[in-house]
Amino acid sequence: MGDVPADISHVVDTVFPELAPLRRTATILRPEPGGPGRAESSLGGPPLWPADDPWPHCAEQGHYFPDSSGDRTPVRPVPMVPVLQVFARDVPELPFPEGRDLLQVVWCTLLHPADRSESVRPRLYWRTEAEVLAAGVLTDVPAPAVEDIFDEFLPPPCVLSPVTVHDYPNWGKPEELQGEVLEERMEVFAERTGRDYTDAACALETKIGGYPAWSQPPDWPDCPRGHRMEHLASVTADHGMDMGDLGGVYLFVCRRCPDLPSAHRYDC
Ligand SMILES: [Zn+2]
Ligand SMILES: [Zn+2]
Repeated sequence: MGDVPADISHVVDTVFPELAPLRRTATILRPEPGGPGRAESSLGGPPLWPADDPWPHCAEQGHYFPDSSGDRTPVRPVPMVPVLQVFARDVPELPFPEGRDLLQVVWCTLLHPADRSESVRPRLYWRTEAEVLAAGVLTDVPAPAVEDIFDEFLPPPCVLSPVTVHDYPNWGKPEELQGEVLEERMEVFAERTGRDYTDAACALETKIGGYPAWSQPPDWPDCPRGHRMEHLASVTADHGMDMGDLGGVYLFVCRRCPDLPSAHRYDC
């Protein structure tokens, strides 16, 4: 999948000069099943969580476990699960808020009917590693009861091997690159590289930064104050996590607002 090597990037810029200014840097995280430690970047690994910060639970009305014999709605708050933990040292391209160097994402794996496209309910935390270590680390992270986990959205513990790549938009190409013009250029690109544009030029996997790999028309969120949010990270289906029909959850943040509001979209 599209970890865009320099030669592909060169062909993209030659065949689609309109896209060259849109080239972004993304860090693909390349999760592999393993046993990450608390002090390591991970997908689905144990988080370096401050002992004095209660582990988050989701009590959203109506969230449910989909079941062909009838959806089940838990009656109690459900512990969220660790999804992503990224230390600044492993992803230097990720701009952290002043003084912070640890990003953590947790979510409730159940489906939430309040969403336009029903999916998980993520929560983001920006922390300072030294502060967490100084305050003491939570060692017994509560896990949801088996019947309260929708395992299509449960990331298995994975170690990460981040690599920086170029990333181009899948949707949202400039107006002059539409219709026949686009089709012809796509053919030229395929002839030169032997690959499909989306597959070759778009980083479709779990990543930090770059573009959301929309498979549906883009649905960029705005923050509560009306700013268009930026794509922060994508967590996509892989390694036994199906995420519906091999979809992805895109996380967004607004850096123009000091409280860093976040939002997410589920794309499938
Ligand atoms: Zn929930
Ligand atoms: Zn904002």
